Amino acid sequence: MIDIQKIRADFPILQRKINGKSLVYFDNAATSQTPKQVIDAITDYYTQYNANIHRGVHTLSSEATDAFEQARQKIQKHFNAKEPCEIIVTSGATHSVNIVAHGFQDLLGATDEVIVSEVEHHSNIVPWQMLCQKTGARLKVIPMKHSGALDISVFDKLLTTNTKLVVVNHVSNALGTINPIEEIIEKAHNYNAAVLIDGAQSSAHFKADVQELDVDFYLASAHKICGPTGVGFLYGKKAWLEKLPPYQGGGEMIDQVSFEKTTYAGLPHKFEAGTPNICGVIASGYALDYMNHIGFDVIEAYEQELLNYATNELLKIKGLTIYGTTSKKTAVISFGIKGIHPYDIGTLLDKMGIAVRTGHHCAQPIMDYYQISGTIRASFAFYNTKKEITYFISCLEKAIMMLA
Ligand SMILES: *Cc1c(COP(=O)(O)O)cnc(C)c1O
Repeated sequence: MIDIQKIRADFPILQRKINGKSLVYFDNAATSQTPKQVIDAITDYYTQYNANIHRGVHTLSSEATDAFEQARQKIQKHFNAKEPCEIIVTSGATHSVNIVAHGFQDLLGATDEVIVSEVEHHSNIVPWQMLCQKTGARLKVIPMKHSGALDISVFDKLLTTNTKLVVVNHVSNALGTINPIEEIIEKAHNYNAAVLIDGAQSSAHFKADVQELDVDFYLASAHKICGPTGVGFLYGKKAWLEKLPPYQGGGEMIDQVSFEKTTYAGLPHKFEAGTPNICGVIASGYALDYMNHIGFDVIEAYEQELLNYATNELLKIKGLTIYGTTSKKTAVISFGIKGIHPYDIGTLLDKMGIAVRTGHHCAQPIMDYYQISGTIRASFAFYNTKKEITYFISCLEKAIMMLA
């Protein structure tokens, strides 16, 4: 059982008043809130051992280095990577995708193909378009069905011996749909294509085991799993990471530098040019600890309860359409109200203290599919409550009456 009051007490921001009302934060798919355990880790770093890592001989530097590398190991263990060096610390999911997309520039030719899906975040579309423009490779798209699920029968036909890469998100940020990545990975591997899974949206809701998935690349952002912004990671199978060239040149990623020739550092440092967000990375490790302490099984079960409750209540509202209706979803509900612009609803809800997202959610192809400009998205976390949902529903009904 989840002790929701105890959990909520860990999040200072949940005490805030917005426009005189208690904050109801339903924009967790955009970024999660931060528990005091993580805030304390940030304070501790800057008050006790702020220093640059991997080079100093002094105490602060070695303490910071140890804490930084411990955080890497926490990420490694959480996602069950075989070795810590397979975890590249990045500035976020977007950075992680770009490392791989850039790396494949040297590996793709004009006859090669990259397959993406129609339900991707722009971060997992644009870098592949850029890669295809550079290399002449062809970009193919797995279409979605009206439910928000991917049409796997079409995927079967898109795969050819020219397919070099398949990139799909684990969970769609705009719809909450969980994609059948096990099946996608297996099918892609039958054609010797590498698979990159964007786990930015799934990581907050359930654990992924990269070895069991046998996935080639997996990535996420810390700010969606109770960590700070500006931190993410890229998991890659060692053989792949060794094969890919570095993304950026600079300090930390080198072995030897002279003007005649520079040799690169080994993994993971080859991909970690420059001073990273040291404090943020350490704090992200504490965020994973925090969530694991509650337990992802507990989190998942509780969030599904919230999802079911909110879905049933929303469907009672006249003129309301939910986008993304498969049975396998995380706690994200994207919806529209007939004849009312999502932005107007979002603005009125804010007046009542409720934070939801409105718009295209960085996934314009999905909006094009449904021929809408955007949706209202309510996305829940383990610190939300049924009571908040009840309040949200009554405020939504009020907003609809005001706008109709
Ligand atoms: C949030 C998100 C991203 C981008 O994450 P950043 O932290 O902005 O780099 C990519 N893909 C999905 C599915 C997301 O939800």
